[in-house]
Amino acid sequence: MKIVVLDGYTENPGDLSWGGFEKLGNLTVYDRTAKEDVVARIGDADAVIVNKTPLDAAAFDACPQIKYVGVLATGYNVVDVKAAAEKNIPVCNIPTYGTTAVAQMTFALLLEICHHVAEHSDAVKKGEWSNNADWCFWKYPLMELAGKKMGIIGFGRIGQAVGKLAKAFGMQVLAYDAYQNESGKEIADYVTLDELLKESDVISLHCPLFPETEGIINEDSISKMKDGVIIINTSRGPLIKEADLAKALREKKVYAAACDVVSTEPIQPDNPLLGCYNSILTPHISWAPKESRQRLMDIAVSNLEAFLAGNPVNVVNKNL
Ligand code: NAD
Repeated sequence: MKIVVLDGYTENPGDLSWGGFEKLGNLTVYDRTAKEDVVARIGDADAVIVNKTPLDAAAFDACPQIKYVGVLATGYNVVDVKAAAEKNIPVCNIPTYGTTAVAQMTFALLLEICHHVAEHSDAVKKGEWSNNADWCFWKYPLMELAGKKMGIIGFGRIGQAVGKLAKAFGMQVLAYDAYQNESGKEIADYVTLDELLKESDVISLHCPLFPETEGIINEDSISKMKDGVIIINTSRGPLIKEADLAKALREKKVYAAACDVVSTEPIQPDNPLLGCYNSILTPHISWAPKESRQRLMDIAVSNLEAFLAGNPVNVVNKNL
């Protein structure tokens, strides 16, 4: 079997091994593949592995020998799964691998807002402590989380992991989800979206990007929030109308916002959040601790193994 990975760099920039795939066939790995090179690079490969490189119907038409598509991610919108299904090609994703990593990053962002660790360390290294009149100083308001309310929109795997961490910090947890479940009820009080917006000191987004969740944070929903609310987004950029959030940050209606994801990635130079002093922006790193990427690699390999054994798993286009 010939296996080609079209854009392997973000999953494995060099600290992991592709050995699991090498054991299953003749492997070629490209770091990145431009749209116009997709068909040529697939060539006569039987299994195509992608992360964010689009595979459209034309690619399936041009490469009729493709038997399997593996996506190195949970989201598989880069693949025309219907076109693949019409040719009986299973498309397999990684349903979950980074729950704890994303929950941890959510708190890394929130704690940065509470303590400004990076800026205080920079100030110390610049000599501001050595030259200080008192034995300590702080340049920003410091904030304790205990006793505050954490509102979580989308209370699935990651949302509930964040809820458990919030409780460990002494926070009260409110959750809004389209569906409620028993494990969620043990962690949080389920409330309506309006109640969550009104009551929460911190709002963290963990719902998927669907038409009904796109722009869920907008001028109207922000107007229902407490003055001085904190907003964290480690889910998907388009959940937030960024111009509305930037306005609320400038007007200090929103105390601070931290986003690991933005509407267009990589971030565009004219993204309005870039100009806000009270925004924290990270380059979509929540999923990327080595442990989390190793888990992703292991599942991607076992997905292909299961296909080769005749029992494909994690197939996202079975019923199309
Ligand atoms: P999940 O499916 O376990 O949980 C999603 C929850 O959202 C579910 O409980 C679902 O009922 C709920 N939901 C669906 N529609 C909703 C709606 N309209 N309103 C409110 N809630 C709704 O998924 P997960 O593993 O917890 O992942 C959550 C999201 O995190 C993913 O969709 C993805 O966008 C994001 N994510 C980001 C990174 C990153 O690196 N930044 C990594 C992994 C996942």
